[in-house]
Amino acid sequence: TMLVAFSFSGIAELWADFMRASGAAERVFELLDRKPAIGAGGEQLTYLRGHVQFRGVHFAYPSRPDVPVLQGLDLELRPGEVVAVVGPSGAGKSTLASLLSRFYDPQNGEVLLDGHPLTSLEPEWLRRNIGMVAQEPQLFSCSIADNIRYGRPGATDAQVEEAARAANAHAYIERFPEGYGTQVGERGVQLSGGQKQRVAIARAVLKDPRLLILDEATSALDAESEHLVKDALERLMKGRTTLIIAHRLSTVANADRVLVLDGGLVIQSGTHASLMSQEGLYRRLVERQFVAA
Ligand code: ATP
Repeated sequence: TMLVAFSFSGIAELWADFMRASGAAERVFELLDRKPAIGAGGEQLTYLRGHVQFRGVHFAYPSRPDVPVLQGLDLELRPGEVVAVVGPSGAGKSTLASLLSRFYDPQNGEVLLDGHPLTSLEPEWLRRNIGMVAQEPQLFSCSIADNIRYGRPGATDAQVEEAARAANAHAYIERFPEGYGTQVGERGVQLSGGQKQRVAIARAVLKDPRLLILDEATSALDAESEHLVKDALERLMKGRTTLIIAHRLSTVANADRVLVLDGGLVIQSGTHASLMSQEGLYRRLVERQFVAA
């Protein structure tokens, strides 16, 4: 309910998704407090390749300064690369996404985009160039069409429908008597997890960002949604630098590279096949933890 109070802008969408992704309503207040800390100003890049580097990043949440989350982390996402991040619960996977979107800044080290420190870039511009598909995307109390239009306010109905088709959402939307005008959210129809994810994917298609952050659902979707979501995501990721917080074997197996996070550091990096051929945390995680898919 707090979420509808946000302004109708790209940042509202990202914030709402982050809040939902982090799964804790009480963090709303913390995030609201953070908002002015990362002010306006900074440059916009005219052309964004989508090259991301974390260099020696040390980070602890401001509310828990004595608990280090990242401890000198280095990682690189090359332009267009699909990188899956795995690691035990609490390893800092979601934290990477928060730092990349500049909801927080590291205490030490830096995050660079196309060689520019994120702190030198305009936050609004940065967020316009980042698409996010959360585990359980937050829908606003308005029509499905307007929920999709969050991705690009001002998009025409035809563009909204085109995005919905690319997201494999058009068919189910059309089955509602009121189609794209169907009200969702608190007082509207309840969508399944997979249907909500496809609305979030349609938003991201409209937004057309260079960088994508996907937080994969931990709970299984129904079989039809599972297939349609996966298919739509594959199309969405094409040509974009993508960071996936991965929970499924099929996702890590298809990623260009897998990073294993533990103790605030990247401890293993490679393709699924190469990591499976070594002793280590990755193989143990795969054997124990992944949802079979
Ligand atoms: P999971 O797989 O369980 O989602 P994760 O790898 O994404 O975990 P993070 O959510 O990044 O882990 O959390 C890393 C650490 O930071 C954890 O110890 C967590 O409790 C802590 N943490 C996360 N968000 C906050 C916050 N807003 N304030 C304080 N501590 C936080």
